[in-house]
Amino acid sequence: MPLTIYNSLTRQKEPFEPIEPGKVRMYVCGITAYNYFHVGNARVFIIFDVVRRYLMWRGYQVRYVQNFTDIDDKILKRAIAEGSTMQEVADRFIDAYFEDADRLNILRADSYPRATHTINGIQRLIHELEQRHYAYAADGDVYYAVRQFPHYGKLSGRKLDDMQAGASGRVDEEEGDKKKDPFDFALWKAAKPGEPAWESPWGAGRPGWHIECSAMVRQELGESIDIHAGGMDLTFPHHENEIAQSEAVTGKPLANYWMHNGFVNMDGEKMSKSLGNTRLTRDLLTNYDPMAFRLFVLQAHYRKPIDFTADALEAAESGWKTLNEAFQYGSKFAQLPGWSSEQSIELERAMVDRFNEAMDDDFNTPIALSVIFELAKDLRREGNLLVHEGQPSLSIKQLQCQWQTFENLLQVLGLENQPEAAPTLSEGLTDAEIEALIQQRQDARQAKNWVESDRIRNELEAQGIKLIDKGNVTNWYRS
Ligand SMILES: [Zn+2]
Repeated sequence: MPLTIYNSLTRQKEPFEPIEPGKVRMYVCGITAYNYFHVGNARVFIIFDVVRRYLMWRGYQVRYVQNFTDIDDKILKRAIAEGSTMQEVADRFIDAYFEDADRLNILRADSYPRATHTINGIQRLIHELEQRHYAYAADGDVYYAVRQFPHYGKLSGRKLDDMQAGASGRVDEEEGDKKKDPFDFALWKAAKPGEPAWESPWGAGRPGWHIECSAMVRQELGESIDIHAGGMDLTFPHHENEIAQSEAVTGKPLANYWMHNGFVNMDGEKMSKSLGNTRLTRDLLTNYDPMAFRLFVLQAHYRKPIDFTADALEAAESGWKTLNEAFQYGSKFAQLPGWSSEQSIELERAMVDRFNEAMDDDFNTPIALSVIFELAKDLRREGNLLVHEGQPSLSIKQLQCQWQTFENLLQVLGLENQPEAAPTLSEGLTDAEIEALIQQRQDARQAKNWVESDRIRNELEAQGIKLIDKGNVTNWYRS
């Protein structure tokens, strides 16, 4: 059976055929760097990391690109509040992204384009849209004329005439008067006093959010790519607008497969900023093992909603413990005479086939995991026999085959023990140790090393030490 992918564009599962045989070009919309990423973002990054790993496992050469939005109103707002700059805020949260993503064992992308590094490509694309009459300048802004693009709405299934103006996501009231149609969206925004701005044919300004992805895909991967992915909430307007921008210029499909993952609930309610129940991944990882978090995400099919509850995460913790116990027997098995350290041994075909069959069916990770848990159970039994009776029931060859299969399949899902988990402090800090850490944090703050100062604050917090900053003085108490 070939690999099939549910394509949001056609609303059906389709056999996967890359543009260039053996190669996959893939783009995932990344974070806007104004905060640590929340658990909804984490789900996106884990799922598409697994998609990528599985494609590699099936022999594809994957080029994976994920952007950082480093120009945005939210970043500016934070910079103003902190008395720093947009770049300082973006740099700090991009660094924090890597710290958190690494702990979740998310492979690094081949490239991380940033909006501020793509200004030329963005301006070129806007210029081409203008020449083709898909864009118009208005008072220093440039807008996309959605009614010029006959396929607008093809991804989200929305029709312009049925939609309500203002329901299109990031809305700016000042744009209202300049737009010819309420659904038109900004490609370029005129500079406001004190804001970072770039020179352009339309005057000093900065790019809109949607255009950056169109420009980055084109620059990094070409005019048509195989897979474009992101959270379901990006379908409209973000991805719809990306299609409108890119396809109006190239006349080619921006992506052949559009993949979107389902929503994230928090204790039974949809997680959203307006409900105030968003949770930062970093905070959750102070209580849960990153691999248990990863396992929890993969235990649901990616298109289904998942519900983060303490019970569910604890169940995932115990699931990870089961896998890890089996994993720990590896060092014992490796001491058995006749065990080869080479990785050339054949894998257990029947298990690999079942795993692949599940993953080929639109990345059905819950079923794929059940195969891994079966292997873990067998390995634990063999490990117990070895420890208690000095002899496993399987031959060395069979055992090694089973072990290697287990290890390989775990890797395809990115479930691996992290040797360098986040540093934790020893229990019960003395007052002097706390004072020393607070001094280190002060030094970091002076050097504007926010990542480090946040890290120290978080570590103290994990030890029940709360900090209160008053000007240059930091008071603390044990909570
Ligand atoms: Zn995007």
